[in-house]
Amino acid sequence: MTESLTRAPETSEPLLRVTNLKKHFAVKGGLLSREVGRVHAVDGVSFAVKRGETLGLVGESGCGKSTTARCVLRLIEPSEGEIIFDGQNVLSLNGDDLRAMRRNIQIVFQDPFASLNPRMTVGAILGEAFIIHKLASSASEREERVANLLVKVGLKPEHMRRYPHEFSGGQRQRIVIARALAVEPKFIVCDEPVSALDVSIQAQVINLLEDLQAELNLTYLFVAHDLSVVEHISDRVAVMYLGRIVELASASDLYRNPQHPYTQALLSAVPVPDPKVKRKRIRLQGDVPSPMNPPKGCHFHTRCPIAEPRCRETAPELKQGSDGHFVACHLA
Ligand code: SF4
Repeated sequence: MTESLTRAPETSEPLLRVTNLKKHFAVKGGLLSREVGRVHAVDGVSFAVKRGETLGLVGESGCGKSTTARCVLRLIEPSEGEIIFDGQNVLSLNGDDLRAMRRNIQIVFQDPFASLNPRMTVGAILGEAFIIHKLASSASEREERVANLLVKVGLKPEHMRRYPHEFSGGQRQRIVIARALAVEPKFIVCDEPVSALDVSIQAQVINLLEDLQAELNLTYLFVAHDLSVVEHISDRVAVMYLGRIVELASASDLYRNPQHPYTQALLSAVPVPDPKVKRKRIRLQGDVPSPMNPPKGCHFHTRCPIAEPRCRETAPELKQGSDGHFVACHLA
């Protein structure tokens, strides 16, 4: 993949640039717990996210999207590749430099209940970030900043005295978002942030994330398994299949003109709000192969309805088709 593919279609340097990222997990077995195989969770992924934009990262469960997101924060150490955040080589950071980087990159997880300590009040949960990063000089300043954060995410200052179980799922996710904002990050990884919420609440949380982005000039990597969820919030969307990006384009281009057979199949399952528009459902045969033993050549060839013999031998490169639209398919 050429250098230009790793860049957002703007002249300014992206806030995040990921190049040829790989994460392979060793699988151990037998009496001596020897390595018996490797899971190729992320298999050479490159993308860039420019300042103020949202890149959606989409794919079925197990495609490597969450592992990619966690590698960016070094919650998981990558096996190979380069991650440049705000001009710094993330993989070479240690100690205070790594802590400073982590302050600038926050993560919002899928399950807000699991990521909030049930024994702490919301005030204590949010106040913790100010203590750790020495962002408030007194208890009263801390309380004032917690109150401001709660208002910013659509809650009330008095909510700081309550415990996580006293809130609905949507409100708990607002608290998680407030905690991410407490340290004034530049970049937020949203890892399936609305997947655990009712559909009616999902739109409210996505609207909140959009409002916060506009107000605070935030940059998002938005991970989801559902293309319809990322459509609204993303400027560009990358589709992953079995550890690789198979298509990357502006959201409008990708939804209007999907070029990879996998993206076409995923989109055919997304309901269209206009009853006059009929979309033919493409049903893929078979299951996603194991990432421990991915197929040779194009990883998608075992399920692709238009696969050719060469697809079984040679992996297609992610190439630029039309302006800013990248596809990894021999026939695109
Ligand atoms: Fe299908 Fe071949 Fe394209 Fe892969 S490279 S998506 S198998 S046509």
